[in-house]
Amino acid sequence: MSICIFSHGRCLQYDVGHDHPESASRLHAVQDQLLSSGLAYVVEQRDSQEASRDELALAHDPAYVNSLFERVPSQGHIWLDDDTQLNAKMLRAALYSAGCGISAIDYLMQGVERKAFCLVRPPGHHAERAAAKGFCLFNNIAIAAAYALQHYGIQRILIVDFDVHHGNGTEDIFQHEPRVRFFSSFQHPYYPYTDPVSTSASVVKMPLDAGTTGAQYRQRWLDEWLPLMQQFQPELVLVSAGFDAHMDDEMGQMKLTDLDYFWLGQQLAQLAAQYSQGRVLSMLEGGYEHSPLARSVVQYLKGQL
Ligand SMILES: [Zn+2]
Repeated sequence: MSICIFSHGRCLQYDVGHDHPESASRLHAVQDQLLSSGLAYVVEQRDSQEASRDELALAHDPAYVNSLFERVPSQGHIWLDDDTQLNAKMLRAALYSAGCGISAIDYLMQGVERKAFCLVRPPGHHAERAAAKGFCLFNNIAIAAAYALQHYGIQRILIVDFDVHHGNGTEDIFQHEPRVRFFSSFQHPYYPYTDPVSTSASVVKMPLDAGTTGAQYRQRWLDEWLPLMQQFQPELVLVSAGFDAHMDDEMGQMKLTDLDYFWLGQQLAQLAAQYSQGRVLSMLEGGYEHSPLARSVVQYLKGQL
């Protein structure tokens, strides 16, 4: 049983403005906490490869992928939507973030009882098949899932998204894909303001009131989600792991604690032990308050050990 952390130095080498919550110091905080918790001595750390345009096109419209390369300015930045910037270093970081997911799938599939955590930025779950959104250029978890479908012939992939925001991009990409079951919990009503009711058999939504506690979240997971996940019998468990539902993260108004993320790590590891030879890939999404983010990632990984 092992956990491998995939990341790349390029993910640290861009910034989108000093007052922007999505900053390189988020990843530094997680690395510091891995060291101070002692977990850094238990996990393995690997660099990722860069995703190719063909790999990005597994989940995205090729014309959209090409348009980002064509539009990216050599200096400065442009805005793709109200809060999503594009600059040259960020595009490069996004290629490595998506590449982390591909490297992690290869790592998982070359053994059993393997877990991977992709410590990446920019995040990905708001990026749709043909549109950037919510700090996201490419949908890292969707590219990893599409790669696993194509290269390893997997028939049933579970994607769980516990970020405080709904993974609208992942829904957009997989809503008509019967081999993927996407479970997304999110504060509602809240950004990205998509329909809280699913109209697709591939998408299971759990809208949550502001103020939802960890105990309430766990109960709904056990009552509503776990039976459906078990019924699906996933061959692979992928996770959009956002930590902005933490009670100390001001990006949302939910009340999860460090120990709820430990519990989520345990739940996902148990599910993977039952159905997917212990394989779990988690991709960092949100989580903007450094200390709770870093502590929660460490607790989440400890839950999987
Ligand atoms: Zn989020």
